[in-house]
Amino acid sequence: MSEIDWKNLPFGYFKTDYNVRAYYKDGKWSDLEVRQDEYLNIHMAATCLHYGQEAFEGMKAFRGKDGKIRIFRPDENAKRLLLSANGIMMQPVPTELYIEACKKVVKLNEKFVPPYGTGASFYIRPLLIGTGAEVGVKPAKEYTFVVFGGPVGPYFKAGFKPVPMQTVKDFDRVAPLGTGLFKVGGNYAASLRASERAHEEGFSTVLFLDAKEHKYIDEAGPANFFAIKGNKYITPDSHSILRSITNMSLQQIALDLGMEVEKRPIEEAELASFDEIGACGTAAVISPISKIVDRSTGHEFVVSKDGQVGPKSTALYKQLRAIQEGEVEDIHGWNLIVD
Ligand SMILES: *Cc1c(COP(=O)(O)O)cnc(C)c1O
Repeated sequence: MSEIDWKNLPFGYFKTDYNVRAYYKDGKWSDLEVRQDEYLNIHMAATCLHYGQEAFEGMKAFRGKDGKIRIFRPDENAKRLLLSANGIMMQPVPTELYIEACKKVVKLNEKFVPPYGTGASFYIRPLLIGTGAEVGVKPAKEYTFVVFGGPVGPYFKAGFKPVPMQTVKDFDRVAPLGTGLFKVGGNYAASLRASERAHEEGFSTVLFLDAKEHKYIDEAGPANFFAIKGNKYITPDSHSILRSITNMSLQQIALDLGMEVEKRPIEEAELASFDEIGACGTAAVISPISKIVDRSTGHEFVVSKDGQVGPKSTALYKQLRAIQEGEVEDIHGWNLIVD
């Protein structure tokens, strides 16, 4: 595949050769089906189209220094999809089926897994949707599980350098006791207007506040929030944020590097006191934040004064990437090697 410019890939859809699917019908899951076409043929009354019965996942596979392909913590994503499925009353995908599907998609599309050293990776997108026909509001009886993937470059186009973000008080991503802890499309639909406005106003994304008081930091649209203060890694404790696997991993790496980890509510007003701040998720790994502007008051919380990424964020980022690419020992057993 010499025609792919690995280093300049966007984070976007990329057509590959195969996707895999499984169907839940009559009380059981089918075997995996390998497909080449990119379309789903579904009933117009499918619950995913009307009542938002849709959940997804996002993972990356990396070509290591040793040439092996590693998927980062797919067991955790399988668990989270179970949680999301239960949260919106969909038939959960068994973990073995989930893992088998992800491995298969990577293996079948092996020529699209970027070479080591390009900074690019193979993004895996599993999707679970209610496909049974219903018009009354109730969960579907039939489900479709699809996994596709493709090569991607870095999520934030600016690369590993701090970007500005915005907090808003006229939009909430999720309700205080709502679906924030599930990876469902509805949360994204609810965040689009605020996110697009933030882009237009020159910000990388919105950092949403807690919906009840608009006082605490919840998370960015597609990424968790963390802060560094002295030797501490601090991340919000909230019922309405997604349990980011990148964040979980960074917390462990922080401990491994001799830092302390604190999980607690973080007031917006506290932003000024941090040494480094950032957003974290599979797509970006870490997206360092230069400043946060509160759109309602105009107040600017400037953290990165010199426009550089802080030393702790850099160390955490490098260590996570090194584990993913097989450059250092995988002491926690996070990588699944595809062979
Ligand atoms: C997917 C996602 C994240 C990041 O989770 P990772 O497991 O680290 O990729 C964070 N917040 C939201 C809302 C998400 O949907």
